[in-house]
Parts: sequence; C-alpha cells; structure tokens
Amino acid sequence: MSRQRVGIVGAGVLGLAVAYRLQQRHPGISVEVVEKENAVAMHQTGRNSGVVHAGIYYPPGSQKAQLCVSGGRQLREYCAERGLVFEECGKLVVARGPEEVPRLRDLLERGRANGVRDLRWLDGDALGEVEPHVQGVAGVHSPHTAIVDFTAISHQLARDVSEAGGAVRLGEQVHAIVQDSRSVTLDTARESRTYDLVVACAGLQADRVATLVGDAADPAIVPFRGEYLALRPERTHLVRGLIYPVPDPRYPFLGVHLTRRVDGGVTLGPNAVLALSREGYRRRDVSWADLIETLRWPGFVPLARQHWRTGAVELASSLNRRRFVALARRYVPELTLADVVPAPAGVRAQAVDAHGQLVDDFRITRNGRVVNVRNAPSPAATSSLAIADHIIDGLALG
Ligand SMILES: Cc1cc2nc3c(=O)[nH]c(=O)nc-3n(C[C@H](O)[C@H](O)[C@H](O)COP(=O)(O)OP(=O)(O)OC[C@H]3O[C@@H](n4cnc5c(N)ncnc54)[C@H](O)[C@@H]3O)c2cc1C
Repeated sequence: MSRQRVGIVGAGVLGLAVAYRLQQRHPGISVEVVEKENAVAMHQTGRNSGVVHAGIYYPPGSQKAQLCVSGGRQLREYCAERGLVFEECGKLVVARGPEEVPRLRDLLERGRANGVRDLRWLDGDALGEVEPHVQGVAGVHSPHTAIVDFTAISHQLARDVSEAGGAVRLGEQVHAIVQDSRSVTLDTARESRTYDLVVACAGLQADRVATLVGDAADPAIVPFRGEYLALRPERTHLVRGLIYPVPDPRYPFLGVHLTRRVDGGVTLGPNAVLALSREGYRRRDVSWADLIETLRWPGFVPLARQHWRTGAVELASSLNRRRFVALARRYVPELTLADVVPAPAGVRAQAVDAHGQLVDDFRITRNGRVVNVRNAPSPAATSSLAIADHIIDGLALG
C-alpha cells in the first residue's frame, strides 16, 4: 500500500503544529507544508503578544477553553524538550474600580471551571506584591501564564518536520484546490501536488482558501489591526510580568495590556482597529481589494452599527499616542508619553458571520478531503499543538 499523503496550507504555528503532530502520531505518512511567504511565521504567528494563555477567559466547554489549557501544557513540554524559552512570568488581571469587581469574580470562577491551576484573588493592597507599580482595587493572579517566542517555536517545528522526512515548501502560494473522490490537488505557480488529505491553516486568508474548495464564504475574515508601543529600556522595570484589564465580555479581544517579552522588553497593546489591508503592517498600507471585500461583506454594516462606540475609542488610540498610553496608564499610573516608542503591529484574522456576529470559538470545518480552519484567533497560538491533535483525530487516519 502506498504512503498516505497530507498537504498543509500555511506555515504559521498552526500549520506547522499539524505537520509536526501528524508525523509524531503517524510516522508512515508523507507530510508537506505549502507556504506563500519565503519564511515561516510571517503573519499572525510572528506578530502577536507572545503569551501562552492559561485559559481563564473562555466559556467552559468551548473549544478555546479545552484546547488552550491542554495546548499550553503541550507547548511547555515542547519548549522544554527543544530548549526554547518558556518563561512563567505570570499574569495579573486588574479591576480598576468596584464596578469591574463582579466581572473579575466571574473570570476567576471561569478560570477555575476551565481547570486553570493556582489562580489567586488579590485585594487592592496585595496587587503590589505581584506588580509593585500597578494600581487597582482587586486582581486575579495567574502564576503559570507564560511568555514564549512563537517565531522561534515555528522555526523549530519546521526543522523537526524536515528532519522527520517532511517538507516545508516556502514561496509557493496555493491558488487552486481541486478534489475528487480519490485525491485533492493543490496548485501553485510552480507546480501541482496531489494528496489524500489537505488541512488549510491560512490565517488571514482562511475564508479565501476555503472558498477555493467550494466552502461557503460565511464566515468571512475581517482583519483587525493590533498596534503596539514599546517601553524604553530604562522604564521596563515598571512591569514584571503581564498586566491585563478585565475584558469586555462582548469582545474576543482582551484590551490593551502590558506584556513582558522574552527579550526583556515590554510592550503596550494591542488595540483593535479595522485593518485597511489583511497583510499590511504599516498604517499607510492599504489594499483596496481587501478593504472593498470587507466593506461589502453583509456582516460588516451590522458589525459596525453594533460596535461603533468601541471602534471610535480604539481608533482614537491608534491616531493619538497620548490616548494609547492613557489606556495603559489606567493600570500603571507612572507611565508617561515619553516612556514609549512605536513597535511593530500585527493583524488578527477574526471571522465575522453574515449577521455581523464575531465568531467567538475556534471554527474548523470539513469539506470532502479538505479540513479548513476558518477561525483561529487568540489563543490559537497557545493552543496550536492541541488544535493539531483535534484536527488529526478528525482525519481518522489508519
Ligand atoms: C496582535 C495579535 C496578538 C496576539 N496575541 C496572541 C497571544 O499572545 N497568544 C496567543 O495564543 N495568540 C495570540 N494571537 C493569535 C495568534 O497569533 C494566532 O491565533 C495564530 O498565530 C494563528 O496561527 P495560524 O498558523 O493559523 O495563522 P498565521 O500565523 O497567520 O499563518 C497563516 C499562514 O498561511 C499562509 N497562507 C495564507 N494563504 C496561503 C495560500 N493561499 N498559500 C500558501 N500559504 C498561505 C500565510 O502566509 C501564513 O504564513 C495574537 C494575534 C495577533 C494578530
């Protein structure tokens, strides 16, 4: 019998995790990753906050809750085996006033229901033991929330895949996917390759890649830019680990936070503003094709109507650095405008349905021989190895 062949579209952390776990669990299988960029992790994976979430936020029973907790554990083991940084610097979620306390209590309950270990409630004065420069009336401390370098992890996964006999083909954009009852073919400008199964982890292009194989256009990807500022090195002592606001339950985004990075730096952000280009990272980058597609999406107007107030606050933080810093200063009052410099931005691939609802949970669909990851926003990097296992379970390989 010939070897089964699996093709994977996208060499972000998710596509690479699928390739890696496939080889581990089914060593006889031929695995190829096809990536349009000339390097791995060029989009969301290489432009995120680098946080391994503990699993506090997500509704119990959701895929996000289950896969974040188990994925974080797997990632810790992987980093330990490969000598990659996995620093448990801990996270403090801070309530600024009494009105936020009930939501913070709900968050603590949620985290415990999700199996997050060692969560601790802290009253106002005790916050300083964890973060001496923070201000708030209460907090939840998650000591095992960690930071990593998802780009380094992706490079290591790609090396592991190649060393185990797989291939990571860079600089090849998949522009057509054709399947019949026996196989599925990925066409790139360089060649056509035939597989038994394909898994598409195309991030910001997920909806476009899915429609190549006849999937519905719904949900579409609406790109949300996430901008960061970095603290000047002489001010990074203001933040020991990770300082987060109590999130607004209406949004999947976690609010502007202060994040320690594995290189010792500290960033503020990300905000969340509509991106004018799916893969453009400077504010002046505009893709008219992307923008027109977003504006024409039937879900866009209901989305904008529902969330314009929040959108306006986020946009103000984008256009005015003082307002951006003010969002972070609510938690660390010593911060000033002079303490920050611009840092690279990211763009989130957030699926939005035709009624304007933000798709909250991960969404993975199957169309014949093709699995499409249609929604894998945060915490998908944290969860990547667990999402990979979940996808592989569904492939029912021999
Ligand atoms: C600002 C920001 C902050 C975040 N913070 C965190 C965090 O702290 N922790 C966390 O867990 N998650 C975080 N996330 C989310 C996390 O980064 C993503 O969930 C994760 O990286 C998704 O990985 P991916 O492989 O699906 O997507 P991507 O990394 O975007 O990779 C998709 C790949 O597919 C390729 N591709 C697309 N179309 C084609 C095609 N036609 N042919 C070939 N290749 C193609 C792309 O070039 C790309 O390399 C954050 C995201 C952003 C943007």
